[in-house]
Amino acid sequence: MCIAAGSAAVDFSLFFPRLAHNLHPHSYMALKLFNTLSRSVQEFLPLDPGGKRVGLYCCGPTVYDFAHIGNWRTFVFGDLVRRYLEFKGYAVQHVMNITDVDDKIIKRVRETNTPLREFTGKFAAAFRDDLKALNCRQPQQTPHATEHIGDIITLIGKLVARGLAYQTPDGSVYFSIEKYRGSGLRYGQLVKLNFEEMRVGERVRSDEYEKEAVADFALWKARVPEDGAVFWPSPWGEGRPGWHIECSAMSMKLLGPSFDLHLGGEDLMFPHHEDEIAQSEGAGMQASGRPFVKYWLHGAHLLVEGKKMSKSLGNFYTLRDLLAKGFSGREIRYLLLTAHYRETFNFTLEGLQGARTALARIDECLTKLREVAGHTPAPGDSPLPGQFAQALDDDLNISGAWGAVFEWVRDTNRKLAENALDPTAAANALSGWEKVDSVLGVGAAPEVEVPAEVTALVEARQAARKARDFQRADAIRDELKAKGWIIEDTPKGARAKRL
Ligand code: AMP
Ligand code: ZN
Repeated sequence: MCIAAGSAAVDFSLFFPRLAHNLHPHSYMALKLFNTLSRSVQEFLPLDPGGKRVGLYCCGPTVYDFAHIGNWRTFVFGDLVRRYLEFKGYAVQHVMNITDVDDKIIKRVRETNTPLREFTGKFAAAFRDDLKALNCRQPQQTPHATEHIGDIITLIGKLVARGLAYQTPDGSVYFSIEKYRGSGLRYGQLVKLNFEEMRVGERVRSDEYEKEAVADFALWKARVPEDGAVFWPSPWGEGRPGWHIECSAMSMKLLGPSFDLHLGGEDLMFPHHEDEIAQSEGAGMQASGRPFVKYWLHGAHLLVEGKKMSKSLGNFYTLRDLLAKGFSGREIRYLLLTAHYRETFNFTLEGLQGARTALARIDECLTKLREVAGHTPAPGDSPLPGQFAQALDDDLNISGAWGAVFEWVRDTNRKLAENALDPTAAANALSGWEKVDSVLGVGAAPEVEVPAEVTALVEARQAARKARDFQRADAIRDELKAKGWIIEDTPKGARAKRL
């Protein structure tokens, strides 16, 4: 785990007095983000003339299996962007699609002989549970592709009408890159492509293909026997949509033809996002001079123990696999949030142990602060949110942000040890942490509910000790230990704590 050296303990609120109370879109510093479209770090200025509303679309999961820890890196990155925009006072409309029909899904539906809805429903539900376990804010909308077939057909119809898409004899509809380029639009906005080697009219049917295979791609795939019962009627005959058109149709339907931010993992840059731009700008619904998407953000991949995740290497983890190993969603979230989103991240189980230790340090400091603060209100400022925001404004420099947090923990621990914090100062410090945690979302250690039988055993042990029956008291302690609980003697009496 890599936490960069903390920034100097400067009280930024002295320089930016509005900061702590008044975090709104025009607050003291601008957010800068690396935009794949311009290949540069740019100031974030929303399309909304009021400067307040922001549309954010994150490509969601393809629900053919449980999402793996690499997918979760990207989704937690999306959550970080959304939370930080909200921290800065923007009103974010966050949309994340659920791809519930594509090549991979159809293959699994066929192999498992399960109806489409039943098959995808199971993984979509698991995805929602995992989002909660990782404390990701729920997107306001999670459209399913199969619920937007009408919108998809309408969009394909527009492309056909504009002469940018054509039907093949089998009934499929393809996007014509030649016609698109011929109409003055640019294919290859996110990635550099070599058109010299492109053979006009060459087609790819599969949803995923290599950059070298620049070719007309499928918008509507005519029904084939392997599709089984997965097909819908359309003006071009029975079939199903391609993956790329799903995202164009759903994002424009819910966020309008031009919106602010579009996110995904780096592997989606081509062909998925490039094709989304071509379809969306090809349909020509944007106001003149406006792009489909203003800022494209791509998260780097996650490796496990330095290698690409694969089932055969035994390094393939779903969130569930890690929870079953006894790690918490909070620890996993913390670890995924330690690296900058544009750097490849090497995930290890030792890293998760490190996350546990780091969180314990934060928890310990917060517990002590709470003891000192009691119920005292927090009227004042804390320098922490300002330092934290200064780092994140710089293209989400998360190492700098964690640096500010741990510097603050060190400084607070020192003051606590010197008895230098009165209840008001402690309350202010806690309020600063809460602002920062509205972005990090690692919160305080979740309160663990103590089962009644454990409470009864703790009481029985107390009674045994009172009666000086130490043998019995020790036996009860061992019994609790076997159940995963230890007894902690506190000034308020004995209480059970999870091992
Ligand atoms: P999928 O369900 O395959 O469509 O992927 C969902 C998201 O996870 C996409 O944004 C992918 O770019 C992203 N993704 C896939 N593999 C990884 C990985 N190893 N590390 C980070 N993100 C990934
Ligand atoms: Zn997408």
